[in-house]
Amino acid sequence: MIETEVLVLGAGPAGVSCALECLDNKLDVLVLEKERQPGGQLNQIPSAIRNLATGSYDDGASLAGSMTEAARSVLAERLLTDCAVSSVDLKNKTVESNRGQISYRAFLIATGYRVRRLGIDCPDYICEHVLYRSGIYKDLLKKKSVVVVGGGDSALLTALDLEAICSSVYLIHRSSTFRARPDLVQAVEEHPRIAVHKNSSIRSFRGEAALTGVLISKDGEEFEIPCSKVVVKIGYAPNTELFAGQINMDERDHIVCDRLGATSIAGVFCAGDIVSGGVDRIAWAMGSGTASAFGIRKYLGHKF
Ligand SMILES: Cc1cc2nc3c(=O)[nH]c(=O)nc-3n(C[C@H](O)[C@H](O)[C@H](O)COP(=O)(O)OP(=O)(O)OC[C@H]3O[C@@H](n4cnc5c(N)ncnc54)[C@H](O)[C@@H]3O)c2cc1C
Repeated sequence: MIETEVLVLGAGPAGVSCALECLDNKLDVLVLEKERQPGGQLNQIPSAIRNLATGSYDDGASLAGSMTEAARSVLAERLLTDCAVSSVDLKNKTVESNRGQISYRAFLIATGYRVRRLGIDCPDYICEHVLYRSGIYKDLLKKKSVVVVGGGDSALLTALDLEAICSSVYLIHRSSTFRARPDLVQAVEEHPRIAVHKNSSIRSFRGEAALTGVLISKDGEEFEIPCSKVVVKIGYAPNTELFAGQINMDERDHIVCDRLGATSIAGVFCAGDIVSGGVDRIAWAMGSGTASAFGIRKYLGHKF
């Protein structure tokens, strides 16, 4: 069994910031990351990042690149990538990973968000036409009839963006109002070539060998929309299932903690997107990760 003083789960901005602060304070720290590279969601940001006081970045990959460099050079063998944790026992202070069991004295949960899936079963030949990103698949979407699902900024921006290249664009939203910015709502609702269906949801997919349409349920009625691609933009979900039933969470499955990240379990801390009452921003992730290292030092009996 591997033993460490501090175990950090997730090498996004929150986990890496906590680990670097811990190491600066001479704590024995180990970071586990299931992906091949650190950076978390930064690796999925296609557009410029302009809200950081350290400067702007052309895209998330360039910021993830400099974070990876810092993490790999400073943490070195204390950063284990390709290392997925499959179960956690907060009471006994152990985790099960694909590198075996690991025990810790203090634990930071920094597992971030993942893209929320539609949750409709479909065979592979249909699923391959249900996309969760549109930017990188733009060539595939050209001249196609496309259904966009969602009601936030991302869904409306996608509908507006695709309208220029697709033969037709339908926007399906389960509620009667959009969550998106008012300017985007106005642009979509007034757009002559975007068909908006509120109070609507996809019940099933149609097609024998490939996607040919979706069955929509709207106000108790059902009808079919012909399409060859669906782009789903229904937000993000916190990666907190591993801790369900073991720790206090809010109604949105975010972990409740104090300002230094201490949770309802002694020695267990959290930071970043998964913090209840936090904000899903890089600066918050970094700041709360750093703050949690102070919480961890305090818990381990180190003086400030
Ligand atoms: C498209 C997009 C655009 C964005 N644009 C901006 C922006 O312009 N400005 C801004 O401030 N913020 C932006 N954000 C938000 C920002 O990226 C996040 O708030 C930030 O990355 C959160 O950091 P985190 O460390 O909490 O989580 P994450 O970045 O999600 O990192 C969590 C890490 O934990 C790992 N992990 C999860 N579960 C396990 C497990 N069981 N075992 C091992 N590892 C695991 C994941 O692989 C991941 O690497 C954007 C996000 C997206 C998706």
